Amino acid sequence: MTSFRKPRSPKGRARLVHERLTLEYPDAECELDHRNAFELLTATILSAQSTDKRVNMVTPELFKQYPTAEALAVANPEHVEELIHSTGFYKAKTKSIISMAAALVEHHHGQVPGAMADLVKLPGVGRKTANVVRAEALGLPGLPVDTHVLRLSKRLALTEETDPVKVEMALNPMVPLNERGAFSLNIILHGRRVCFARKPNCSECVLADFCPSAVL
Ligand code: SF4
Repeated sequence: MTSFRKPRSPKGRARLVHERLTLEYPDAECELDHRNAFELLTATILSAQSTDKRVNMVTPELFKQYPTAEALAVANPEHVEELIHSTGFYKAKTKSIISMAAALVEHHHGQVPGAMADLVKLPGVGRKTANVVRAEALGLPGLPVDTHVLRLSKRLALTEETDPVKVEMALNPMVPLNERGAFSLNIILHGRRVCFARKPNCSECVLADFCPSAVL
């Protein structure tokens, strides 16, 4: 690689991180299978403490039986528990998705709202889930902060904040509105594939030449 000036500011680093990771992961996309905002919202709630792969194994049947908020809102909890059992915490998740669906029917005509204030009022929905749905299914700005985004933001010295909401607020102005979802997705993929929690693979990392935490 030709010599270049290392970015000195967090914003400069964020820009270069996004640029390099976009080249590295050109096909990056949300790994939770879904056909619409309702399905992605439900799948994201189910993905807590589970893997996207595992969730993708249960959602086809779940959405076949309960394709809309109206259908899921009146579902038999025991039946839903059975369908989503393998994702873990199935009782709490069943309660969340049925209550979430009921709230969509009661307050939003069965549709998923776009406003953050409305999304986070839904049962089982926090800012991370709301941002996933905004960015991936509704075409709105959203920068989901998960464990990978937290860890990499610290290692790349993008922010000193550690609270997820504060990290989101710190990162938002560094990334153009319409690229926030892709920025988060890139970082999540890099955290899963290279910048591991225990032993980051710095020698294979495309950010190593300017990452302040690189160990080479
Ligand atoms: S250089 Fe190492 S610590 Fe920095 S982002 Fe890459 S893998 Fe993570």
